[in-house]
Amino acid sequence: MNPYTMLSSGLDTSEATALGARLSAWHDAMVAHERRLRAGTTSDACDDECPHAEARALWSEAAAMFGARAEELTFLRSRAHHRRWSLEQWTR
Ligand SMILES: [Zn+2]
Repeated sequence: MNPYTMLSSGLDTSEATALGARLSAWHDAMVAHERRLRAGTTSDACDDECPHAEARALWSEAAAMFGARAEELTFLRSRAHHRRWSLEQWTR
């Protein structure tokens, strides 16, 4: 179980389950997206369609759905609060 489905199963509504599934899918897309950016082997750049842009909308939905517990989704939260990819921000 990942943190997204775990949070949504706590609410046990179909909306929460659906959002949990979308967040899980987004997480996988983001990990793959960042891996490509980090590798530098692609012309894949951040734009209005990339998972970074999507993060802000998903974060708003998660915050509305899960309230304070959305804070547990640190991966989503950190991506939502940065507009664009920056190697310095993500490499710790
Ligand atoms: Zn991006």
